[in-house]
Amino acid sequence: MKETKGIIFDIKRFAIHDGPGIRTTIFFKGCPLKCWWCANPEGQKTDPEKIISPFQLEENDECVKDIIGEEISSQQVIDEILKDRVFYEESSGGVTFSGGEPLMQPEFLHSLLELSKQESIHTILDTSGYAPQAILEKIVDSVDLFLYDIKLLGNEEHMKYTGVSTELILQNLSFLVEREQNIIIRIPIIPGITDTSENLALIGSYLSELKSISRVDILPYNEMSKAKYTRLEKPYELNNIVPPIDERMNEIKEKLEQFGLQVKIGG
Ligand code: SF4
Repeated sequence: MKETKGIIFDIKRFAIHDGPGIRTTIFFKGCPLKCWWCANPEGQKTDPEKIISPFQLEENDECVKDIIGEEISSQQVIDEILKDRVFYEESSGGVTFSGGEPLMQPEFLHSLLELSKQESIHTILDTSGYAPQAILEKIVDSVDLFLYDIKLLGNEEHMKYTGVSTELILQNLSFLVEREQNIIIRIPIIPGITDTSENLALIGSYLSELKSISRVDILPYNEMSKAKYTRLEKPYELNNIVPPIDERMNEIKEKLEQFGLQVKIGG
């Protein structure tokens, strides 16, 4: 496999919410969506960018900026991944490619997936599904499990809150289902936006028709990423939204279960 280079903004070791077991998560830089609730806004731009240092947020401090994102070779990333092989074996874990959107760097992703498979490492692709189908076709056989985001099924709302249409995302999901890939759907629960009765009913009904969806994870909105927007000097659009309480998450879980889906709160 030819070695390639790509741009990532983080490597998280010992991750336990990015798929089964203990995992190493690789965060790719660049995403074609701009979700209002994005927890990783530093992953949206393709190139390395400046971010205010976390230690310089007081009003009178001199503004010091760090660079987020670095170019790295696929072999360097694999070397990092292999450091924790023993933990993957003990916990049935592996590597998760996340971001940003990994499908935006197809050659780099392909190389990492192939190298991981050569080392018998379990692979997960955490994706928005927004990419040409030809890219998915190239990598699909090296992915053991897809974590596939579904946010809103109304196209107008999807355009408003993510910046892109649902069409490609749903086409690609159908493609993966037809190929009988192992898929977990992830729904971010953003109060007043994705948790409306109408949206939940549309998603529940749509997913209930698809075979090979092993589970639906509902992920409660949290405000932890707010500070990152300040550091990136980007506006944060969800200032008045309060994270859903446990009762509300249970209610949503039950609603989706009525469609015959297996639902879990959290990732
Ligand atoms: S798809 Fe994910 S990474 Fe991309 S903007 Fe939306 S939440 Fe952020």
